[in-house]
Amino acid sequence: MTGARLIDGRAIAAALRTRVAAAAADLRERLGITPGLAAILVGNDPASEVYVSNKVRACAEAGITSFEHRLPDDCGAAEILERIARLNADDRVDGILVQLPLPPAIDPRVVFAALDPAKDVDGFHPVNVGHLWSGEPGFVPCTPQGVRLLLGSVHGDLAGAEAVVLGRSQIVGRPVAALLLASDCTVTLVHSKSRDAAAICRRADILVAAIGHPAIVTAGWVKPGATVIDVGINRIAAADGGVRLVGDVDFAAVRRVAGAITPVPGGVGPMTIACLLRNALLAACRRRGLPDPALL
Ligand code: NAP
Repeated sequence: MTGARLIDGRAIAAALRTRVAAAAADLRERLGITPGLAAILVGNDPASEVYVSNKVRACAEAGITSFEHRLPDDCGAAEILERIARLNADDRVDGILVQLPLPPAIDPRVVFAALDPAKDVDGFHPVNVGHLWSGEPGFVPCTPQGVRLLLGSVHGDLAGAEAVVLGRSQIVGRPVAALLLASDCTVTLVHSKSRDAAAICRRADILVAAIGHPAIVTAGWVKPGATVIDVGINRIAAADGGVRLVGDVDFAAVRRVAGAITPVPGGVGPMTIACLLRNALLAACRRRGLPDPALL
């Protein structure tokens, strides 16, 4: 076997970002509208700092104004909710993202429920979660949206495909499952209490791994020819004493069995920011009653 087709998330994300930038320029030139995205960062987790600064840079490249709101680690929920209320009322702000993880004392469900659903570009507000599961238009969480777009680059039609999603978190596994169900897949969710995860995964035409265990998905978990999307981002010790990123899939072994596979890094990761920009642009249009720009 020559090995699986590599799904190039960097190229697919770059193409989407170019289309978002073109649509944002069109909004600005025709209607004088510049989309605005506010990021709330609580505390100074180094990884979150990097994610937020990458998002700010990506906004600038796409012609989206960004607003950074930093709150101290020990701020209470009331302070975060007060900030959200101000951003909900601020007409320059079309989208609000709350960088996760929040400090342990803060319940993220309370924070996301306080967002104006029309500005909820993460797609975590209960109204948008409900829209996703009931097939109504709303905001789809960014990483799951990226997973669906990567699958679309390989498969024209997913109807009838057996899809297995490893992981059932609110931010990845569940919304991925909802999107695959909306695409008429037969969907199974595997979680920490599932019996014989490997046997369930081996049934999958589409396998999405999102559990946060380095290289747990080995070749024996994968049906020959399956499409494998690896959402996992795990930092492990490298041979040179540094740190390297690996996914939840044993890439070297699985690429010999799969039909198509995403690498880590360079697969799902770049899609998350591209889809955030897309959601910010959609929010700017929808809040003003404008039609969604054609981006896909
Ligand atoms: P999470 O909230 O920790 O959820 C992990 C899920 O995996 C849970 O549903 C858990 O089951 C399940 N699980 C854990 N161990 C398992 C096992 N041995 N067998 C089967 N299921 C198991 O993680 P997450 O936020 O969804 O993130 C998952 C991975 O994706 C992480 O590596 C994260 O860094 C990565 N990620 C990447 C991006 C990106 O942009 N590429 C974005 C978000 C997340 P229970 O529900 O039963 O506990």
